[in-house]
Amino acid sequence: MTPSDDGGPAREVLAVKYGHRVTTRAESYLNYHLYGEPDADLDIDYFFWVIRDGADVFLVDTGFAPEAGDRRRRAHYGTPAQALPQLGIDPAEVTAIVITHAHWDHTGNVRQFPHAQLVMTEAEYDFWTSPLAARRHFAAHSEPAEIELLAQRRRDGTLSLFTGQTTLAPGIELVEVGGHTPGQLIVAAATPGEGRDDGGTVVLASDALHFYEEVERDRPFAIVADLPAMYVAYDTLAQLASQPGTHLVAGHDPAVRDRFARHPAAWPASQAAAADDGGGAVEVTDLTRPHAG
Ligand SMILES: [Zn+2]
Repeated sequence: MTPSDDGGPAREVLAVKYGHRVTTRAESYLNYHLYGEPDADLDIDYFFWVIRDGADVFLVDTGFAPEAGDRRRRAHYGTPAQALPQLGIDPAEVTAIVITHAHWDHTGNVRQFPHAQLVMTEAEYDFWTSPLAARRHFAAHSEPAEIELLAQRRRDGTLSLFTGQTTLAPGIELVEVGGHTPGQLIVAAATPGEGRDDGGTVVLASDALHFYEEVERDRPFAIVADLPAMYVAYDTLAQLASQPGTHLVAGHDPAVRDRFARHPAAWPASQAAAADDGGGAVEVTDLTRPHAG
């Protein structure tokens, strides 16, 4: 979007799909045998998110690092530093990066933004810099060098922490929900209509909601730090989704690309072909334009 005619910023909220994997339902839902259904393949997309308010650019998570993706056998098509210029954004313009949680597929490219302020919850930071984070069921989902970079940024004074809820910018709220990880957060961004519609709120659930089915069929995700908190987070998200004009954006669900309009950003085919598992490419979705229904 371009700035509106009166000079005010039109807020853009974008999902950038940069990676993909085929997993299974049994691997993705906690104790899947409880449902008495046959297992099946399940596509999982990897996204990061961009909120642009005129000159202010906020990145929500950074995706995984290419080398970590290779090691963990995920297809990937680009990093934020490669993708942002395709959206007309100089990576140096990124004002702040929200770290929704410290799993490897969200913290992998923080190093591309040495001048951006980082924001995350205190509970998340404290957990991942504690000895418990080294235990196998947690360590499997983090990259130690990336946690160390967060700690370095904390020592440098460029990582700020909050508890509960904080305002990132007018109309952009960060809300701690926990569950999936000790300090998982969600982002609620108001989207003024700008003459296109009545506006509303986009809720970037990140991994508080990997797949819509978690909330819509009450099925917890397999990777969970605190199951009661995860259920409460689902209730929070369902309550938000019941508000008029409010739309949930799941953190890994390919359905995001069906529930919202495609953004016209063009992608160089040569870049999209790199490290592809066949048929994949970076795809940008305009989260301010939900499809009806
Ligand atoms: Zn994730």
